[in-house]
Amino acid sequence: MTLRTLDTLGDLTGKTVLLRCDFNVPLDNGVITDDGRIRASLPTIARLIEGGAAVIAVSHLGRPDGAPDARYSLAPVAARLGELLGSPVAFASDTVGESAAQQRASLAAGEVLVLENLRFDPRETSKVESERVEFAALLTSGIDAMVSDGFGVVHRKQASVFESAQAVPSAAGLLVAAELDVLARLTVTPERPYTVILGGSKVSDKLGVIEHLLPHVDRILVGGGMLFTFLAAEGYAIGSSLCEKDQIDTVQRYMAEAAERGVDIVIPTDVVVASKFGADAEHVVRAVDAIEDTPFGSSGLGLDIGPETAARFADVIASSKTVFWNGPMGVFEIPAFAEGTRTVAQALSTVDGLGVVGGGDSAAAVRILGFDESAFGHISTGGGASLEFLEGKKLPGLEVLGW
Ligand code: ADP
Ligand code: MG
Repeated sequence: MTLRTLDTLGDLTGKTVLLRCDFNVPLDNGVITDDGRIRASLPTIARLIEGGAAVIAVSHLGRPDGAPDARYSLAPVAARLGELLGSPVAFASDTVGESAAQQRASLAAGEVLVLENLRFDPRETSKVESERVEFAALLTSGIDAMVSDGFGVVHRKQASVFESAQAVPSAAGLLVAAELDVLARLTVTPERPYTVILGGSKVSDKLGVIEHLLPHVDRILVGGGMLFTFLAAEGYAIGSSLCEKDQIDTVQRYMAEAAERGVDIVIPTDVVVASKFGADAEHVVRAVDAIEDTPFGSSGLGLDIGPETAARFADVIASSKTVFWNGPMGVFEIPAFAEGTRTVAQALSTVDGLGVVGGGDSAAAVRILGFDESAFGHISTGGGASLEFLEGKKLPGLEVLGW
């Protein structure tokens, strides 16, 4: 099957299009710190408004608890989108309520309306299919076509991603199509050696990925929050660092399976240990067998890979032909813990082969640390989605588009 692209929707003049975007941008007190995902949505929005459609853009932001939460409002996103488009963008303070109805009634062809955070409604991510169907029916009422362009969520069976695409004629947007073009190159005969770098903080989500990657890759570099579960599995004391204790057995099994398959899982030999989580924390570099051997004792937190590890990772990257990286190596938002991420980004930007960065925070990290985006083979807007794609999983949000 092939992905249904925008042209399969025919002439959209005068039509109202529901556009699922991924506007899940990092915010600091309501200020957008990286607008990459908003910019990534521009080609599809431009195509739709030039084609004479009225566009209703929807997205989630963060993980609110199924109820309105001002910290996760999409209002700053609507404002930024208006600046980037150079024309005003309307905003509704709900998704399927009175405000949305009012704004939709006055939306003209060629205009854009952003609705409030989808996840303020528990039906968006409900495990109960009928609840998602109900929410999707409300979202798509009066809608002529649905365009799915939130690549970061295509691995989720959620109302705005899956059921909405079933409810009305639907197609993939330009971002989803472009992402798939590049990621397909990583699944069909990638050039070897093929290295995957994993980090970030969604430890339990990402540990599971390793098992599925083992048959496909040559090396896995482990950084970020998940590295401490590996160190704990090797018997090291890890202070108060992030750790999924119930995954230690699983990690040991992965290590054994990797050894059998000849896959190199590279685990750090040194880390940056901090007195606490914060920009004013004290910090020291320690070998992995001495993490609690600091003035902070067992309350010390590992917040970055150490310089020796970073250099080793850079060497492995330099000798690879295909590299996929998801998840920052440390808490890059704080300069003292950004060096591991910087070294890995630097190595990836000069790799002789295809170097792909995937993940909201990883992509934001390379931009915030000042790297030129064009130095990378591809910067994917999706972390979990791209990992699941690389694992060879069927992604519901793509299947529903004919993929
Ligand atoms: P992505 O969005 O790229 O998929 P994640 O959302 O999984 O990545 O993780 C990003 C976050 O991980 C960053 O905010 C970073 O501060 C955090 N992080 C990285 N290393 C650590 C660590 N050792 N301890 C705690 N948080 C970490
Ligand atoms: Mg993230």
